[in-house]
Amino acid sequence: MDEKIAPHLEELTRALGDIEKTGIRAEFDKLLAFRVPPEVAKESILRKFGGKRKILKVKDLSAALKNFEITGRILDIGEKAIRPQEGVKEGPSKLYTGVLADETGSVVFSSWKELPGSVGDVINIRNAYTRLWQNRIRLSIGEQSLVSKVSDSSLPQLSELSQSPAKKLIDVGAADFSIGAVACILQLSHREVLIRGKQSKVISGVLGDETARLPFTAWVELPGIDIGSIIRIEGAQVRMFRGMPSINILSSTKVSSVGPEEAEKLVFTFESVAKDPAPMKIEEIASRDSMFDIAAAGNVVSVRPGSGIISRCPECSRVVQKANCRVHGKVEGVRDMRIKAVLDDGTGAMSVMFPRGLAETIYGKTLEEAEQLMFSDISKDAVYEDLRRILTGRYLAVRGNSSKGEYGVSFVAESAWVPEDDLAVRVVELLHRLGPDDEDYVSEVSGGGINLA
Ligand SMILES: [Zn+2]
Repeated sequence: MDEKIAPHLEELTRALGDIEKTGIRAEFDKLLAFRVPPEVAKESILRKFGGKRKILKVKDLSAALKNFEITGRILDIGEKAIRPQEGVKEGPSKLYTGVLADETGSVVFSSWKELPGSVGDVINIRNAYTRLWQNRIRLSIGEQSLVSKVSDSSLPQLSELSQSPAKKLIDVGAADFSIGAVACILQLSHREVLIRGKQSKVISGVLGDETARLPFTAWVELPGIDIGSIIRIEGAQVRMFRGMPSINILSSTKVSSVGPEEAEKLVFTFESVAKDPAPMKIEEIASRDSMFDIAAAGNVVSVRPGSGIISRCPECSRVVQKANCRVHGKVEGVRDMRIKAVLDDGTGAMSVMFPRGLAETIYGKTLEEAEQLMFSDISKDAVYEDLRRILTGRYLAVRGNSSKGEYGVSFVAESAWVPEDDLAVRVVELLHRLGPDDEDYVSEVSGGGINLA
């Protein structure tokens, strides 16, 4: 009898953990006592205690998922000691972190328990969950998770899974942690920083291909590589900084120059990538989490409150209200000017932030001139009203970075200008948009007071 049920007990333990302690073994024995065949008993126990199985692949992972099952091969694993929190007697003292991959991608994981496998092994995790950690999706294995080693897996081998997928820059995002790419160096600068007390050289710059640009940082020297070089990167790390992916070249990253013969076959050249970006549709910008160094053009449909002269904390630069900083309390504020305007190009709208230099340019008044207006007028909103009058309806092009948040797309302008393209074309386009088919838009635009003159 024991020989017959042993494999079933093993399977149950693999799937459900310590079956003795949780009383699952007793439940199983009870079914056997009722002459239920072991095979059927096992299935029934799995159904009862295994829950409804939600099986996911790496590509399906998003933030804040709970209670799902996933199978992957361990690409990397390490452990670190966690100092117990004060006042907490017991608790996990070791955290295991690494990378798990299947044929759809790879994900960083962290586990509070030791895993039944090492690099190259395939593990199955039940009751896994995800968390967002430093803007990245992380697979979490907690006390309640059941982890078992899978010996006969059809997942691709380690060597195949460890190759980082070659990506176009526009497809690099928060779910990636390691990628490969072929791109051109558009900007490059060296600086010295202190890393663990040691003076180290860091290279930072901008990479581009035919789809997008992205910032990069190299923690190693890049001999023979300069602005204009086309390089192939393998195993670069993707880090998120202020919601924007950036490519990190580490000592483990392979970087090589793309020779002239191969470069000829590429769909981009340094010249084509280095060209100023052409305005993109706001609709397209809104479809991405973030975009680096892009351009857009549209009409200012509104100037948002909070635009104009503001006061900043001298310590932390936060905007202060009534000489009170959220962090530093009562402070002598430093005057600054900014404009937040909603730009609409007919496909969508986004909020654009113009810092002082640009704000002064598009407003046509310096901070000092705006202050004069503020002091000479009894209305405390004089500058804001003036900004609305001057900017609403203006057609502007902007270049900068976009990121998507709770309230839609926000764009931080690094430059702004009035496009010299044909005004007549735009008027025709606008009239077309104001056609009888789109009455909602008519009222919205006339309400916003668009001035074509
Ligand atoms: Zn402050």
